[in-house]
Amino acid sequence: MLLSCDPNDDEGTKMLIEDLTKNANQVQQQILKEILRRNADTEYLRGFLEGSSEKELFKKKVPIVNYEEIKPYIERIANGESSQIISAEPISELLTSSGTSGGQPKLMPSTVEDLDRKTFLYNLLVPVVNQYVDGLGQGKGMYLLFVKPEISTPSGLMARPVLTSYYKSSNFRNRPFNKFTVYTSPDETILCPDSKQSMYCQLLCGLIQRHEVLRVGAVFASAFLRAIKFLEDNWQELCSNIKTGHVSDWITDPGCRIALMKILDQPNSKLAESIESECSQRSWEGIIKRLWPRTKYVDVIVTGSMAQYIPTLDFYSGGLPLVSTMYASSECYFGINLKPLSKPSDVSYTLLPNMAYFEFLPVERNNEKSAHNLLCNGVSEQQRIQEEAVDLVNVKLGRYYELLVTTFTGLYRYRVGDILMVTGFHNNAPQFRFIHRLNVVLSIDTDKTNEEDLLKAVTQAKLVIEPLNCLLTEYTSYADTSSIPGHYVLFWELKMRGNSKLSELDSGVMEDCCSTVEEALDSVYRRCRSKDKSIGPLEIRVVKQGTFDALMDFCVCNGSSVNQYKTPRCIKSKEALEILNSRVVGSFFSRKLPLWQPYKLEGC
Ligand code: AMP
Repeated sequence: MLLSCDPNDDEGTKMLIEDLTKNANQVQQQILKEILRRNADTEYLRGFLEGSSEKELFKKKVPIVNYEEIKPYIERIANGESSQIISAEPISELLTSSGTSGGQPKLMPSTVEDLDRKTFLYNLLVPVVNQYVDGLGQGKGMYLLFVKPEISTPSGLMARPVLTSYYKSSNFRNRPFNKFTVYTSPDETILCPDSKQSMYCQLLCGLIQRHEVLRVGAVFASAFLRAIKFLEDNWQELCSNIKTGHVSDWITDPGCRIALMKILDQPNSKLAESIESECSQRSWEGIIKRLWPRTKYVDVIVTGSMAQYIPTLDFYSGGLPLVSTMYASSECYFGINLKPLSKPSDVSYTLLPNMAYFEFLPVERNNEKSAHNLLCNGVSEQQRIQEEAVDLVNVKLGRYYELLVTTFTGLYRYRVGDILMVTGFHNNAPQFRFIHRLNVVLSIDTDKTNEEDLLKAVTQAKLVIEPLNCLLTEYTSYADTSSIPGHYVLFWELKMRGNSKLSELDSGVMEDCCSTVEEALDSVYRRCRSKDKSIGPLEIRVVKQGTFDALMDFCVCNGSSVNQYKTPRCIKSKEALEILNSRVVGSFFSRKLPLWQPYKLEGC
């Protein structure tokens, strides 16, 4: 059931959304029926359903799974077996998600048809915003979009991030708008594999067309702020290019140069001077509004872990509305925000019932791991939670759920790992606030580090100080986004073995500890840090002895039970952070970039 939508037809799109949301249940039932009809004969489903495509049997027999359970099937496909083991439609590529398994990105199956399903969702976005913001057709969007490295699997399938896959597709290149009048970045600058050249060229194009720009954005807030930082570091050179009409020689990508020559076709010293006068001011507060004065909003996702960037975005944008338009993942595109101008803290996403078959595992607030723990507790518990999973239209207002998807691409009852809360309904379709991703403690860009990864990395680093008779007695962490790019901060309390006192810390050793942690973090972290440079050097702040006792006192005063107290492995509260920061005796940064290479598939 593949729908199409004409993004130039505001009224038609509105009606389509009304139709889908009014008939949410019927659409969901049809979607499941169709997925099972098509895929009942795959090896995976046959193992549970013996060829049946009955919903009741599906709910009873098909297990709710994590990535580890489907990984062997995905790897078989990557290594050349037929996609028919999970999907009747051929798997056309594998999408590398930011979730990791064994330190490597998870690989999600995708099909040609799925690209059209994603395009459908993208096409809804502009008509929805048009309902709230007038006149967007009278100017351009400065969207800073980037591609990331990709690899070919032994079977010849491409493995790459979902956005790279979309930007490289003809669906993107042939998007229904006339790209020369709608976007400031020519496709060639977006598709340039060198991220620095890509960034430079896109900003140059955006600056040249500054008076035509009505909206600016990137996918996530972190990427947009990185672009602002890049501009802060490079505006003189950008202005000089505009002044002379000549693109810097280090821009060697032929596609970029040709595209830029069409836009930067003559020297324009007046434009360069006006940009210089804004950029050279001491404060960059409100720089977005000053450089792109007609901008009506900033289109970036600021929900979930991206909420940490809201104050910085407010500073640079001068308080422009921040619009989070969609909620999506490598597994599946889920839904859209029907009230794009709502405050970031009020944003809810309406899951579109035609994208996949959605189920929801109820989760007790404050006990969000319960569903996971149950899964580990044997078959009968497993059966019980299978029965607890509810359909899209049966979720209850105010309740928390973990999202499960069954897709056309070979994922069945797959745990996405996101916790959502029901905030309301649009017709019969529930709307959800994104609460958080399960287990993630630290995230700066697309990295998602969980407690286990952090512990593993800290354990490696401990080995560096142990020969010096120095013990790590407690640690916690914090994502510091006060500067761009943000970086991970670890708070360490140290103690000398025996009675000796902690002497002056050797900065070389502590810097080694920082690098060791970075080396031990997963490949998405290392890519962001070493290749994309979207994460800054990891920092260890050593705190005075007794600091973690003070932290515990604070947590207990705020309601934690003394008996059950566990050191939080990530600090979110301002007060707790102050307790730690006020006791810092030394701060050390990693001096090396961690090793990163495009990953290799196991067994290849
Ligand atoms: P990936 O698997 O790398 O494609 O990342 C997908 C994940 O990013 C989702 O499962 C969410 O955890 C997060 N995400 C995507 N869109 C949003 C959004 N609009 N708000 C909050 N988190 C999001």
